[in-house]
Amino acid sequence: MDLTYTEEEEEFRARLREWLGKVLPGLPPKPDPADWPARRRHDAGWQRMLYDAGYAGLHWPVDAGGRGATPTQHLIYLEETERAGAPYVGANFVGLLHAGPTIAAEGTAEQRARWLPPVLCGDEMWCQGFSEPDAGSDLASLRTKAVRDGDEYVVTGSKIWTSHAEVADWCELLVRTEPISAEVPKHRGISWLAMPMDAPGVTIRPLRTLAGSTEFAEMFLDEVRVPVGNRVGDENDGWRVTMVTLSFERGTAFVGEVVACRRTLGQLAAEARKNGRWDDPVIRRKLGRLNAELSALWRLTQWNVSEAQASGGVPGIGGSVFKLRYSHARQELYDTAAEVLGPDSLDLAREWNLDRLSSLSYTIAAGTSQIQQNIVAERILGLPKGR
Ligand SMILES: Cc1cc2nc3c(=O)[nH]c(=O)nc-3n(C[C@H](O)[C@H](O)[C@H](O)COP(=O)(O)OP(=O)(O)OC[C@H]3O[C@@H](n4cnc5c(N)ncnc54)[C@H](O)[C@@H]3O)c2cc1C
Repeated sequence: MDLTYTEEEEEFRARLREWLGKVLPGLPPKPDPADWPARRRHDAGWQRMLYDAGYAGLHWPVDAGGRGATPTQHLIYLEETERAGAPYVGANFVGLLHAGPTIAAEGTAEQRARWLPPVLCGDEMWCQGFSEPDAGSDLASLRTKAVRDGDEYVVTGSKIWTSHAEVADWCELLVRTEPISAEVPKHRGISWLAMPMDAPGVTIRPLRTLAGSTEFAEMFLDEVRVPVGNRVGDENDGWRVTMVTLSFERGTAFVGEVVACRRTLGQLAAEARKNGRWDDPVIRRKLGRLNAELSALWRLTQWNVSEAQASGGVPGIGGSVFKLRYSHARQELYDTAAEVLGPDSLDLAREWNLDRLSSLSYTIAAGTSQIQQNIVAERILGLPKGR
């Protein structure tokens, strides 16, 4: 991989920087984190601006509505948007970062034409209905069933921890189309469906997080009818499609946040200098260690994105290494922020304190650290499977 920037890439950076400089000062202020409809409008508005300026789906394939940009241009985009303090994907997270890419990789031409353009322009948002009360890490044990009735599936069951369910239009839903039996092991018999969230029989019950937001919800499905044409991949082949979704979720969905963490680290060092905590060598050592860790993670990101591009666009299991290290570095960053803030770390109105609470979820969401360690041990290091 060549990490030097070409003249063309530097031009791309300059144009993007100029555009950001023009549009960001006019953006409406960030809405109250608890006001989900306002957050949806805000995130959709930003996505529309990116779309109109030609920056939406930058690294998506051209035939999926993207710009077909190089991995380096994508990374420049992440660097520049973070450097300029542009809004993050927010409620567009699932659609843009893993449901959309899965449909781009696995969907039919008709499915791509139906679902991808509204994701790119911010008109439609997605959520992820994978986890169930008894199927989290052991996702293949899911029980929500879909029974075929003509050209529809009738779906019954429940999901949990469904992020952005309150404002989503569509759900990437895993269902069991074949019950587990002696002939059908649990990884078989699963299908990947696109379920409209306004279908009769869908009930959402928001869950409040430690940080006070109703970021995710329980979802109850009572004989929800989903057209068979909404199935991505073959019937009972959903586990394979799920692996594609998870590789996007773990491999590339969080990469922009690494740049955001590097920016926070710089602000933290500035705060430490201001309030005198910089004089403590332990704090300085922690900030230095984090700087090294986040720089290494950015290099790993560059490598992962470049590898994904070289192998047809779907990230490999290297994403588990990234997810594991990144989620711990994020917690360490905000724990250090608390030390820099001292007694102010108890004041939830102070910057970084809510981020500290929400950083705890990063080692659980998208597969816990223990599960990533299992993947690294078994699939990268080739160690024997644990019992
Ligand atoms: C902020 C956040 C957002 C989320 N958003 C979504 C979403 O939008 N959609 C969705 O479907 N899900 C979502 N999730 C759910 C998430 O994917 C699950 O919480 C996660 O997969 C863990 O499953 P679980 O909670 O059932 O824990 P469990 O699977 O019950 O695990 C409990 C503990 O046992 C450990 N453990 C389990 N199995 C093993 C094993 N084989 N080896 C070693 N240790 C093991 C785990 O690491 C964990 O520490 C979200 C979670 C969070 C925190």
